[in-house]
Amino acid sequence: MAQTPEATVVFGVFNETSEHESRVALTPDIATRLRKAGVSCLIEHGAGEAASYTDDDYAKAGVTVTDKQTILDEADALGFVDRPSEQMITQISKGTWVIGMLGSFTDEAYVSALQQAGLTAIAIERLPRQLSSAQSMDEMTSQNSVMGYKAVLVAANEYGSFLPMMTTAAGTIRPAKALILGAGIAGLQAIGTAKRLGAVVTAYDVRPASKSEVESLGAKFLDLGLDFSKGQGEGGYARALTAEEQAQQQAAVDKKASEFDIIITTAKVPGRKPPVLLTKEGVAGLHRGAVVVDCAASDLGGNVEGSTIGEQVTDGGVKIIGAPYLASEVSTTASNLLSRNVGDILTHFIKDGKLTVDMNEEIDQAMVVAGDSSQERKGE
Ligand code: NAD
Repeated sequence: MAQTPEATVVFGVFNETSEHESRVALTPDIATRLRKAGVSCLIEHGAGEAASYTDDDYAKAGVTVTDKQTILDEADALGFVDRPSEQMITQISKGTWVIGMLGSFTDEAYVSALQQAGLTAIAIERLPRQLSSAQSMDEMTSQNSVMGYKAVLVAANEYGSFLPMMTTAAGTIRPAKALILGAGIAGLQAIGTAKRLGAVVTAYDVRPASKSEVESLGAKFLDLGLDFSKGQGEGGYARALTAEEQAQQQAAVDKKASEFDIIITTAKVPGRKPPVLLTKEGVAGLHRGAVVVDCAASDLGGNVEGSTIGEQVTDGGVKIIGAPYLASEVSTTASNLLSRNVGDILTHFIKDGKLTVDMNEEIDQAMVVAGDSSQERKGE
């Protein structure tokens, strides 16, 4: 039988503290994989509870279940679903590695705080996702996919009718009409889920390539009568539209939106504030009982004017749900996928048994935002 290598790197995970978070950055079966790769794991008591992983499950997988201070004292690397608070940064020892969604595109002050604390910071949001070697590290894909699925279930739950067509003795009920705005990872999963539930699905994305992807799932592509054929930015992502283009798009979406019962929005541009796709006028045009789920809601604003993170507001009888955290509501599987992504990022950086940054490596170049070598990052 293959021998488990002597552990050379200690990886620690805390109980996530933010209000909507039920996920955990390490699950027991990923801890077992990490142990085989020479990583010993520490987890804070109860950290997996909300995702249905008990302390006992971790102990059986060879994880040391302990308190926060011991993790702070002993871990070489820390993994987060989100990111450590600024207060926690001051408690982490110099030289420790931090892996998480660090918000590095929009929060320079936070990245400076990591740098000043002498931490090596790995920003998951900067993963070069197009590389085949990065696929198993791609937390954006795994979590957005879960989010797209759950967004449809949330909408279905709030909608006052059926999604599928139903023929009953009292009459035939027409199927719900769903519009998915933003047909990336989350949007495509939302299309598939809404179709499986029997809704008639239409979708829209600014990237020209998305039309065939939408149609291949059996949904109709929404024709706004606008040409954003240069709508693709770097690396296959959308580019930010100009103010004029955005105004045209909003007017066209607002006009079409009134035809739908359920609207799910997932549109984002990496490193930017999410674009507003549906304005207050558009919401005002929806019928009473329509449901809008804004998966792009953020502190910077979302795809729908009037959406607020974690809140359901009713505007003229229309329910608007600001829900960027939906992956957390499928916490068991979302955690397992996320833990696999974080675990693979960690092991990517272990070279000859040591945590090492190699700035000649594309993944390292892109993801290391603080630490001795981060100044060498391309283009900055
Ligand atoms: P994302 O979460 O950044 O954005 C979601 C969607 O919003 C995107 O499809 C984007 O085009 C769309 N969008 C942005 N602005 C818009 C606007 N004004 N109007 C309408 N839609 C708008 O992106 P994502 O879902 O993670 O992925 C986007 C693309 O990247 C997809 O084509 C995906 O297949 C590709 N991707 C490739 C890889 C890879 O190569 N391994 C990995 C992940 C994603």
